[in-house]
Amino acid sequence: MAESEDEALNLIQSKPEGVLQNELWKELGVDSRKCSRIVKKLEENGLIERIEYKKDGIKTYLLRAKKRLVDPNFLLSGDELIPCIGCDLECIVEECHPLMDWMYQLAIVHQSRKSKK
Ligand code: SF4
Repeated sequence: MAESEDEALNLIQSKPEGVLQNELWKELGVDSRKCSRIVKKLEENGLIERIEYKKDGIKTYLLRAKKRLVDPNFLLSGDELIPCIGCDLECIVEECHPLMDWMYQLAIVHQSRKSKK
C-alpha cells in the first residue's frame, strides 16, 4: 500500500464516526483528484466504505473504515489466550503484569518456533 493510502486509512480509522472526503484531502495535504484516487483504491481493497453525504448543500462522501475480523492466532500465545479478554481490572496497559507475562510467553513461543525451522 502506498504511503498516502496508509496515511489516509490511518486517518479514517482514527475517526469511528467517519471522515468527509472533502475534508480528507485537506488533512492529507493533497489535491482533491489525488484524494479521489486514494479513496477509490481503499474502497476497491475493501478497507473503507463510501456513503453519499450532503453538507451545506454540497455533495460529498462520508468515509468509514470497515471492521476487519481479527485473526484468532493474534490472541493466543501458545495455548494461552490474551488476558484482556474478559478482564475487569482497572486498565493501565503500560503497568499490566498479566499482559506483560503473556507477551513474555509469546516471545518464548515465537523464539522456539523460529529455532525449530
Ligand atoms: S492490559 Fe491488562 S488490565 Fe488492561 S485489559 Fe489487558 S489484561 Fe486487563
